[in-house]
Amino acid sequence: MIVKDINNLLEVWAPKNIAWEKDNVGLQVGSYSNPALKILVALDATEEVIDEAVKKNVDLIITHHPLIFEPLKNVTTNDDQGRLIFKLIESKISLIAVHTNLDFTKGGVSFALAQKLDLTNIKILKKSNNHLKKIVVFVPSEYTEKVTDAMASAGAGIIGNYEYCSYRSPGVGTFKGSIGSKPFIGKAGEIEKVDEIRLEMIVPDWKIAEVTDAISKSHPYEEPAYDIYPVENESTSYGAGTIGTLEEELTQKKFLQHVKEKLSVESIRYVVGAQEKIKTVAVCGGSGSNLFADALALKADAFVTGDVTYHLFQQAKGKILLVDAGHFETEIYVVETIVNYLKNKFALLKENIQVIQTTHLKNTIQNI
Ligand SMILES: [Zn+2]
Repeated sequence: MIVKDINNLLEVWAPKNIAWEKDNVGLQVGSYSNPALKILVALDATEEVIDEAVKKNVDLIITHHPLIFEPLKNVTTNDDQGRLIFKLIESKISLIAVHTNLDFTKGGVSFALAQKLDLTNIKILKKSNNHLKKIVVFVPSEYTEKVTDAMASAGAGIIGNYEYCSYRSPGVGTFKGSIGSKPFIGKAGEIEKVDEIRLEMIVPDWKIAEVTDAISKSHPYEEPAYDIYPVENESTSYGAGTIGTLEEELTQKKFLQHVKEKLSVESIRYVVGAQEKIKTVAVCGGSGSNLFADALALKADAFVTGDVTYHLFQQAKGKILLVDAGHFETEIYVVETIVNYLKNKFALLKENIQVIQTTHLKNTIQNI
């Protein structure tokens, strides 16, 4: 496989288009056409991680945080960032970042945190726009399979864990080709009636161009007729944070102990909430303060995240058990999630690609 193939596998799970608009995700350094036979997964592309990749002959590093976030004015060895980019290029190592696209994806950062805290029935806390459209195309019945195949291959028809989802209903289409047209059926200038199938498939916004192109290439008509409709359903795959329930309710004190043990942290910051017993818990790995109102609205008894400010603690007191367990400590589990996702994909595809987790998983911030 090459870097592009790995990027495609990540895109299926956490599409670039769902990332925060100011984020910078995807291939940051390197080349799509380089081979990717050994992959190192880390939280950040630090000097230690890049040195580890060089030492272990890694072709591709995948990190959660992007190395390049702000636009660069230059790439020189005069600053830390430039030196790291230089080292990657000199060592022919590519770098891909899966950042807020993985924060906003089912099975991503906040799912990993919820699982770590033993939550069950885990759902997205704040659902994103669904990014979905429905494409309806009218096809002569004998071409239905061909057009469905082409649309599915271009990314249409995915609903949750199911692919190739379509609906077909029969009907009659009419048309009259103008003089100079080359109708597939009948003659120019004559009204034709044809048995057609109304073929419907769901498609994400960012795949529309590819799917309509696939229709044009697979459809026998000179001018295939299709309509694109908005779909108002709520998204079940994308959104921020998660909410779930503990198997058994815990007192606030016991829940705080549970968080400390599960996340292996020595100290956490918190304010007590309204409920003495904790059962429903909202979480957001990394920095999730902006989801505080959503956690309250969904009646979570506790909300666990990182980077909480003094003022948010003041707002939360007496309403919800708000816990700041640290940015690093609440999102570190996503590294293992990425490793497992890729390992499973490679096993399914029978690809012999090595995926390793960095040995440099340590918070830069220290406590005493
Ligand atoms: Zn982060």
